[in-house]
Amino acid sequence: MTWLTWPLVGAIIWFAGLALWIAIRWVPNRRARRAKITVHSRKPIERFSMIVSWMGLGGFPLIWIATGWPSALDHATHPLIILIGTVIFIVSLRLFRLTHKALGAMWSHSLDLRENHKLVSHGIYERVRHPMYTAFWLWALAQPFLLSNWLAGLSGIVGFGTLYFLRIGQEERMMEERFGEQYRDYCKRTKRIIPGIY
Ligand code: SAH
Repeated sequence: MTWLTWPLVGAIIWFAGLALWIAIRWVPNRRARRAKITVHSRKPIERFSMIVSWMGLGGFPLIWIATGWPSALDHATHPLIILIGTVIFIVSLRLFRLTHKALGAMWSHSLDLRENHKLVSHGIYERVRHPMYTAFWLWALAQPFLLSNWLAGLSGIVGFGTLYFLRIGQEERMMEERFGEQYRDYCKRTKRIIPGIY
């Protein structure tokens, strides 16, 4: 089976991860759409960062898998590297599942508040304030292990990093405006994305 190379195995696992992620989101996405959005905090910069993020976590990897471009940036890999990437991606998907379970209809892919929006601070949200962003960081981190191309591999960190740093302050301000003291208390108890650290 000379056609089944390690770079190809890595790409297949990354693609399977993407497919699983879509499956994990499918039902919560349909449910959340039924809860009316009452506050939109989507500024032009938010749209820009969503595009950059999706190019990094999906666009460049898919272009590389489909066409091989930019093959000049391909590099060698090792089964152990693929294994590390796989483990990180599995942890990320598990975390996505837990965040959707806790957030339920309060979830949105952008900065919105829904009708009767409630502050979620149970489940995985007891540990950190932004577990879904932790999950995206883990995905971005798994990507260079799984994709043996410098552009396709590293674009996720740059892409999601852009979204994260442009959005996080704004999201917390939006939550604080809505929930006031309750959110400030919650912030005192929790860190952003790494329990006890950051
Ligand atoms: N930052 C969170 C959620 C991402 S989804 C995480 O990483 O897990 C983004 C939407 O979730 C925002 O529009 C906001 O309305 C909502 N949100 C964020 N934190 C929330 C919380 N603790 N409780 C309820 N809704 C929350």
